[in-house]
Amino acid sequence: MALLIKNGTIATEESHYKADILVEDGKISSISKNIDKHSSVEKVINAEGSYIFPGFIDPHVHMSLPTPAGNSSDDFYTGSRAALFGGTTTIIDFVTPNRGQSILEALELRKKEAEDSIIDYSFHVSPVEFNETTAEEIIKCHDLGVKSFKIYMAYKDNIGLNDEELMKVLEVISGKTTGIATVHCELGDEVEKLRETFASEGKTQPLYHALSRPARTESEAVKKLIQMAEKTDCPIYIVHVSTSKSVEHIRAAQNEGLEVYAETCPHYLIFDSTKYGGLFVDSAPYVMSPPLRKKQDLQELWRALPEDVIQAIGTDHCPFMFAQKKTGEKDFRKIPNGCGGVEHRPALLFTYGVKNNKITIEKFIDLLSVMPAKIFGLHPAKGAIAEGSDADIVIWNPDKKSTISASKHHQNSDINIYENIKTVGAPEYVIKNGEIALKGKKIVNKTLKGRYLISV
Ligand SMILES: [Zn+2]
Repeated sequence: MALLIKNGTIATEESHYKADILVEDGKISSISKNIDKHSSVEKVINAEGSYIFPGFIDPHVHMSLPTPAGNSSDDFYTGSRAALFGGTTTIIDFVTPNRGQSILEALELRKKEAEDSIIDYSFHVSPVEFNETTAEEIIKCHDLGVKSFKIYMAYKDNIGLNDEELMKVLEVISGKTTGIATVHCELGDEVEKLRETFASEGKTQPLYHALSRPARTESEAVKKLIQMAEKTDCPIYIVHVSTSKSVEHIRAAQNEGLEVYAETCPHYLIFDSTKYGGLFVDSAPYVMSPPLRKKQDLQELWRALPEDVIQAIGTDHCPFMFAQKKTGEKDFRKIPNGCGGVEHRPALLFTYGVKNNKITIEKFIDLLSVMPAKIFGLHPAKGAIAEGSDADIVIWNPDKKSTISASKHHQNSDINIYENIKTVGAPEYVIKNGEIALKGKKIVNKTLKGRYLISV
């Protein structure tokens, strides 16, 4: 099917300009000032007054993540569907093997699970230990099109690596692949000690989740990782950066010429730690790691976006039902960590970022689509409105008002940390691989199927 999009304003990371777009066979075949409707065009969309964005890419989501309180409540179907409603056409999830399990086997199993996704997907693959086959398996995964290897400096009792293992993994990625280390930075041992201390003192409310993960435990981990990356010459991507001190370390490393990328999430840009002050019912939804920070941290994160110190915004989408959060009512250590957001990231950043003049429209699309595609080897098929790119296109109404609520969102959760927040901007159409997938508030194509993406 050929599709013609007329009169829209195309926004890229460099500029925005008016042009028409012709879509044929799932790709963008032509971009030009005036494209006339020819005989093979079956559908014309008039995008006057709207922005045309490349489909948004969420580089950080956890569908069906196993936890002691049960899996995170969105699976690949419900989570990808929610993503599509917000204009996100590609997600990057995780492969987390059990210790002792082959990484390649875990990758194959996760690929099967993700077949339910209705949008395209890729994975960060985690080495959760360093044994005699780990190096070889990292190289094999890379040969199969995996670009990003996720390392946890926290959670050392199950998926985290100690410093020695971390160094070895960085050496393999740097020396034997063209991949990148994607890292969760928190000093796991210190966090663990604080958790135990608070619990033994009977301090069990959600507030102590936050107090057991102070800003220093993140920024010191960031600093340590940067030193290791420098020694091993390994490119790194630091996930969910939340503190001003982390930003400082990252900026310094970038100024020295190190290949260091950073991500933050909408919740760290919008909320601060006062959310942990209230009742369990109000504060437990905000239990996530790292926790929400102080107002000064938020300001520094916002500054880091236009300065290009932080290159990407992911959601760390990991929703739960309130009943799951409630398993930690008497002990914050049992509250499953995470919140939803895959559906709201574009509208939140458009509202708080673009409309508040904190970022330009070019920066917005850079953070939400272009850079995630470039860093993780998906560009220019994804993250670009360009001839030859996949026709993943969002036609965005910059004036559409909406109010976020768990009563009407599409994520599979009965809570929403953004409850009652008013947003401006929403997709009018989402086109996925050349097909109209979403129109207004409705999914119009019932046979959507996501594809596993190989990184280059
Ligand atoms: Zn995460």
